[in-house]
Amino acid sequence: MAATDFDLFTIGAGSGGVRASRVSAGLGARVAVAEERDLGGTCVNLGCIPKKLLMYASEFREAFEDAEGFGWRVGARSANWRTLIERKDREIARLTGVYARLLDEAGVQRIEGHARLLDAHRVAVGERTFTAENILIASGSWPILPEVPGIEHVLTSNEMFHLDALPARVAVVGGGYIAVEFAGILNGLGAQVTQLYRGPLFLRGFDEDVRTALAEQMRAAGIDLRFDARVVRIERARGGALHAVLDSGEVVAADALLCAIGRRPLTEDLGLENAGIARDAHGAVIVDAYSRTSAPNVWAIGDVTNRVNLTPVAIHEGMCVAATLFGDGPLAPNYENVPSAVFSQPPIGVVGLTEAEARERYGGIDVYRSRFRELKHTLSGRDQQAVVKLVVDRASQRVVGAHMLGAHAAEIIQGIAIALQCGATKAQFDATIGVHPTSAEEFVTLRQKREA
Ligand code: NDP
Repeated sequence: MAATDFDLFTIGAGSGGVRASRVSAGLGARVAVAEERDLGGTCVNLGCIPKKLLMYASEFREAFEDAEGFGWRVGARSANWRTLIERKDREIARLTGVYARLLDEAGVQRIEGHARLLDAHRVAVGERTFTAENILIASGSWPILPEVPGIEHVLTSNEMFHLDALPARVAVVGGGYIAVEFAGILNGLGAQVTQLYRGPLFLRGFDEDVRTALAEQMRAAGIDLRFDARVVRIERARGGALHAVLDSGEVVAADALLCAIGRRPLTEDLGLENAGIARDAHGAVIVDAYSRTSAPNVWAIGDVTNRVNLTPVAIHEGMCVAATLFGDGPLAPNYENVPSAVFSQPPIGVVGLTEAEARERYGGIDVYRSRFRELKHTLSGRDQQAVVKLVVDRASQRVVGAHMLGAHAAEIIQGIAIALQCGATKAQFDATIGVHPTSAEEFVTLRQKREA
């Protein structure tokens, strides 16, 4: 006879928590999931999905411009922000409904409200207390803000999806995924965008050729990209405009200021201390290779653990926990060759190591690179260069990194990731026939090693 209410109690119904709950229920476990906001979490409500919908909207600007090079006459055009947001909201509401249905059909009990651990087996949600054999923390992350005077005037990515109107001038602070993606979206939709990044070149950690080429192209698209620019103060000027004061003394005036400088694990009032769950210096829940916390029956996945903060990774971690607890045995997530994309304009696709990381890990490496004008732009007239790059371990000849900047890079890199996952060598890439005419075929026609 079961002594507890549930075999698994999941805190957080984001991508990772929902998948872990559904799979566990499918394996016969009695499962509940608590959520205090919207089902689907950041990805569905305030991240990946609405971001990509806004990105599609913003890409029409270039499409209309490019069309003329192909003989189209495109008349007057304008973007209606309200219509876009309403249509986006309708789609997100449909998706959260799908999440609810999937959980219900899997037999997972949905509980609305903030969940808090009372100890390693008891969870309180409002007035109610539940007991569980295992608890899974999948509470996600939240945007952070820098401690500068006037920070109360800024927006985070959370608010960007629900603005009443598109601001005419936007200053974007940060140089990571979110800042770069929103700079492109806002620029495409017609805002005047200034992006401020504190270092010498944004997207630190990505391949340098790709970062350099993207910076050139964002500037060519009209974004005022400023590097080595630190915001020291934000002021609201008379008339309502915001002034971002830089360490150089320069002032950037804008109607809205988006701050995208990273996210922190969301652990507020979870009662982690009641179950003896340890966190690291960044506040992330510490887990072992199987996502087990310092309390033996409490597990954690996704952004709250600050490992690889990507939706498909959280889902993978969730499925591994389900398999470990209720399936065929202990399964540890695999973090090798995780592909990712930055939905910049043009986008970046990447899998494996950068040149610098590969050199550090393998010593001798070969680098192959091509920078070229995509066929489409021979007629569009757009001065846009794509970059395709392979990094190869010289000793084994295995391809250990693939990088692309250019149209459809996110779509293309998914297939390349399979090749890397299979341990493909450069000779096997070379022996693969290209699809012509595409940009993707560059990955199998790179012959000239770049001089070190
Ligand atoms: P990132 O960690 O990607 O980037 C943070 C940026 O802010 C960096 O450029 C960093 O600079 C800068 N920064 C950090 N602290 C400060 C500060 N005090 N003042 C000024 N600048 C600062 O964070 P994001 O917010 O862009 O995104 C959060 C996470 O969400 C990503 O890491 C990713 O995991 C996920 N995400 C993934 C997406 C995708 O897969 N396409 C899309 C959006 C988000 P520096 O480099 O110098 O440290």
